Amino acid sequence: MIGAGLAGLAAASRLARNGSRVSVLEREDRPGGRLAGERVDGYALEPVHALIGAGDRALQAWIDELGLRDELLPPKPVTTAFADRNSLRDVELRALRDVARIPGVRRLHAARLVRLPRLLARYGPALELGAAEEADRYDDRSLADFARLYFGRTVLERWMAPVACAGSLGDPAEMSRVQFLQHFRAHGLARPGVLRGPWEDLIERAAERVDVVTGCRVEQVEPGSDGGFRAIAADGGSYAGDAVVLATPAPLAAVIADPLLTTPERKFLDAVRYAPSFSVAAALCRPLTARARRVLLRAEATAPLASAVVEPGFRGSRVPAGCGIATLEATGAFAAAHPETPDESLEKELIGELDRLWSGFASSVEFTRVFRHRYGSPRFDVGAYRALARFRRVQSDRRGVGRRLAFAGDYLMHPSAEGAVRSGERAAEELLA
Ligand SMILES: Cc1cc2nc3c(=O)[nH]c(=O)nc-3n(C[C@H](O)[C@H](O)[C@H](O)COP(=O)(O)OP(=O)(O)OC[C@H]3O[C@@H](n4cnc5c(N)ncnc54)[C@H](O)[C@@H]3O)c2cc1C
Repeated sequence: MIGAGLAGLAAASRLARNGSRVSVLEREDRPGGRLAGERVDGYALEPVHALIGAGDRALQAWIDELGLRDELLPPKPVTTAFADRNSLRDVELRALRDVARIPGVRRLHAARLVRLPRLLARYGPALELGAAEEADRYDDRSLADFARLYFGRTVLERWMAPVACAGSLGDPAEMSRVQFLQHFRAHGLARPGVLRGPWEDLIERAAERVDVVTGCRVEQVEPGSDGGFRAIAADGGSYAGDAVVLATPAPLAAVIADPLLTTPERKFLDAVRYAPSFSVAAALCRPLTARARRVLLRAEATAPLASAVVEPGFRGSRVPAGCGIATLEATGAFAAAHPETPDESLEKELIGELDRLWSGFASSVEFTRVFRHRYGSPRFDVGAYRALARFRRVQSDRRGVGRRLAFAGDYLMHPSAEGAVRSGERAAEELLA
């Protein structure tokens, strides 16, 4: 296994459970990939909101299997607030007609949402996560075009785009409608919850159960003499195996596995686009809110902040009792526009933006950690599912002639923890089959 992010760890767990001997080679000095954070003075400061919903079935099942149900589940309830001009409004969405209560959504546009369940029923199983082969026939329109055509501009700008962009850092004008529809099919309007403990607990438990070699940057995977593979690390180390799973971001997988790939596979992996990410985890000296609150913003091209989650601490949680914690995620466009800007300036802008909407936020911040990732979130723009379907067909052909190589990562499924876990489990199943 190359890469100990969520996808690599999920694949390794599944293979180990089936009795395979697995080594996970990880470039960094700790596992976790894009989820890896830090624990400081009792605060778990992590780059990614610890949100989980009923549709995250693979993630919940894995948490259970790792014996972490009591520590991490059931999730704590979250209220969702939508940004108005200079304030926030909590809106509980129980039925689609409640979308009309989101600031700025016109009643007429919200009324047209009666079409949404009909469309979902028509598209059916094509919207299952990972069903790229079936989804490719609906991969012909952006979320923006789809939403304007069927519902209206305000439903797009005030509901669909903030929901879609909070999760993926994508741009609704380019994002395939399939991505939003998959999300909606999995979760509906149901509010997500917040995990009771940090992502770190999940990563550590998963990593304990397999052999993880950290500080091992794999440069190339080559064919071995016995029909297996040999991974060559930057420090000269060499690791042999019968099968290999590439669980790194796509462009890195293209370089590492280059000698083993067909031209279409190489082209696909090279072409996967990512939005860079910039996020701030802030330790707060007071809870600020009685229950966790998720803030969704309008997905404007120049907006700095995409979303934020603020959580109060309680005994035994990942936040000290009587304190709070916040995770602020920049939009993909903002992170991309400022690759060289110092962390402090960007952090100030994000905190300032939330403070404008939530008075008293900035003065509650005790200390922060900043996280940046070049490969922050894979983009599922129009055409991505068609490319994915072709890639899967080539892989299946290669497996048919005995190649024991698989790929895992959120770019193959959905830009989320659930997508990463499912992709890892599918890679393991492909090899076991
Ligand atoms: C800012 C941000 C916010 C997010 N918000 C959410 C959210 O709210 N909800 C949600 O569900 N998801 C969210 N996500 C997405 C989620 O974090 C990712 O989908 C998931 O963590 C991806 O896991 P992965 O295993 O596919 O990739 P990664 O985590 O990137 O794992 C790849 C691993 O490969 C390793 N690697 C790379 N090159 C090599 C090499 N040469 N040799 C060895 N190892 C190598 C890397 O170090 C890394 O550990 C967010 C992501 C970001 C960045």
